[in-house]
Amino acid sequence: MDLIWSAWAGTMNILPFILAMQVLLVPFIILEQVLPAGQRPRFGDYALNILISLTTMFLASPLGALAGAGGATLREQLGFTPLGFSFASLHDIAYVGGALEIAAIIIGTLLLHDLWFYWAHRIEHKVPFLWQFHKLHHSDERMNTSTWARDHFLQSAWRAVFPAFTFGLVLQLDVQGASNLGAVTGLLPSVLSMFYHSGARLRLAWLNRLVVTPQVHRIHHSTDPKHYNKNFADFLPVMDIVFGTYYAPAKDEFPATGLGPDYKAPRNVVSAQFSPLLDAMRTLAPKPRRQSGETTVTE
Ligand SMILES: [Zn+2]
Ligand SMILES: [Zn+2]
Repeated sequence: MDLIWSAWAGTMNILPFILAMQVLLVPFIILEQVLPAGQRPRFGDYALNILISLTTMFLASPLGALAGAGGATLREQLGFTPLGFSFASLHDIAYVGGALEIAAIIIGTLLLHDLWFYWAHRIEHKVPFLWQFHKLHHSDERMNTSTWARDHFLQSAWRAVFPAFTFGLVLQLDVQGASNLGAVTGLLPSVLSMFYHSGARLRLAWLNRLVVTPQVHRIHHSTDPKHYNKNFADFLPVMDIVFGTYYAPAKDEFPATGLGPDYKAPRNVVSAQFSPLLDAMRTLAPKPRRQSGETTVTE
């Protein structure tokens, strides 16, 4: 119980910072309003996404703290000697040492982050129960910069659990902690995500294989079936290239985003957080057994 209260207290402490961070959305909002890739985002789209992100932060933080504590306990029980690593020795290299150390921390943290993010994300698309939560992120019909934090609270919790019980068991560097630290100190991961969720018609073909760009991530949010299960990476497309899911967008390929006309996207924060719970429960319910001779019913 103490863990839950201290997680909420920690969230309350950083709340002013999180609210101030919303200012970072402004340049990307201007960009997508001036140069929209599809339907121009509306004020209500931004407001709903920000509300979802704030409620998710409060609802998911105790679960994230529990996952961290659970992962650490399991590591102790199993008696792992975690692989610790540090980039500090780079600092001693003459002249360029300081810059090298900073570059290695940024690239190393992003690589580790993307390695676990890629698989956590790919599994969300594969497992129907987890997809019900991730669907909220994909349901934005006018994908925009604020979509970066349009995540269901249980999806955020899953993304804390996954590294705690996989790479977190063998690596000393807590990748979730490092990415949180990055969000609070360096801000780099958050700003990158705001950038590539932006619904701006930017053609950056030269950058597409180095860093996730708005066009590369738009493919991931596309309603076109030929784009399904492509471009999972958070920051570094090298993950998709290595694991065979990279899709290079053509020069003018800016597809519609969302889940198509048959899916009703939630219009308020309560249904955004609540309806995925019901949908997820339905995926767990046993399928009714079909009588012989009964015709197949498609939804
Ligand atoms: Zn996805
Ligand atoms: Zn996205």
